[in-house]
Amino acid sequence: MIENPIAPTIPYDEDGKHHGFLRLPHSRNESAWGAIMIPITVIRNGDGPTALLTGANHGDEYEGPIALQVLAHELEPRQIRGRVIIVPYMNYPAFRAATRVSPIDMVNLNRAFPGAPDGTATMKIADYFTETLVPMADIVLDYHSGGKTLDFLPFACAHYLDSVSQQAACVAAVEAFNAPFTLMLREIDNIGMYDTTVESQGKVFVTTELGGGGTATAASARIARRGARNVLIHAGILEGEIEREPSVLLDMPGDDCYHFATVEGLVEPLVDLGEPVMAGAPLARIWSPDRTGLMPLEIRAQRSGVLAARHFPGLIQTGDCLAVVATAIEGGELPIS
Ligand code: CA
Repeated sequence: MIENPIAPTIPYDEDGKHHGFLRLPHSRNESAWGAIMIPITVIRNGDGPTALLTGANHGDEYEGPIALQVLAHELEPRQIRGRVIIVPYMNYPAFRAATRVSPIDMVNLNRAFPGAPDGTATMKIADYFTETLVPMADIVLDYHSGGKTLDFLPFACAHYLDSVSQQAACVAAVEAFNAPFTLMLREIDNIGMYDTTVESQGKVFVTTELGGGGTATAASARIARRGARNVLIHAGILEGEIEREPSVLLDMPGDDCYHFATVEGLVEPLVDLGEPVMAGAPLARIWSPDRTGLMPLEIRAQRSGVLAARHFPGLIQTGDCLAVVATAIEGGELPIS
């Protein structure tokens, strides 16, 4: 078996708080024997559960990195039982370039799993998580936001899973995160996702979409910080009370939640995030980028619900995701099967 070249500069099994790096050798024109240094913090206090917390799986999403920098700074070993592993900038080269995918190999980390120890830089990062970090964890929280091209209602989400008990455990952790919206998600493209790797190892998994547009807001950063603490309390690692506010339960029951542009052009939004939509009602119009006098293409809602995500830039390309319509869960109960 080929060994992954990534080496941590700090111990995983010693009590205390250690700040260091995952060192990934990366020989290149600017640095012959150089390395990619991915920041990591490990906080441990005796035996107990392990939480693995990650941000910047996509490099242009900021709520996770902010919440995890704060946590790595503030959390002390005496406050916890067990271990917290914090990687705020999971795809570090992408984070430094402020891009979704890595500028080194143009690979999207969240489509690179389970990864390969002898692959490109991004494949090696994925493999290290798959083979080393995820197996150490009982609970995994991976922060996402919309990045530069999408904007989301702030939600934490769980996936529909084959195992009823695992899905219930994930739903409970997602509820504990306590974002303003809580969502059951069916991925449209789950091959190669970190989520799939973590869930296939039987772990409790929480992911989020907390905003977007390639920035964070005071409100979205606050949600992210509170979520990290809540999840650690839920996991029995951190002492304290879970901070709870009402959360709206949403579902994305099918592919018809997703709306894609079939022409390029100028987007005229007709519905904002969080607003209700009726099936058949227009979500947006796309105007010609080249000339006046042409009819716009109207994109109509394929189902009723609430606008949960939208294309962020003012211009759109054919095939871009224009809008996602989620539905309210009847009776406010999350499905456990
Ligand atoms: Ca993302």
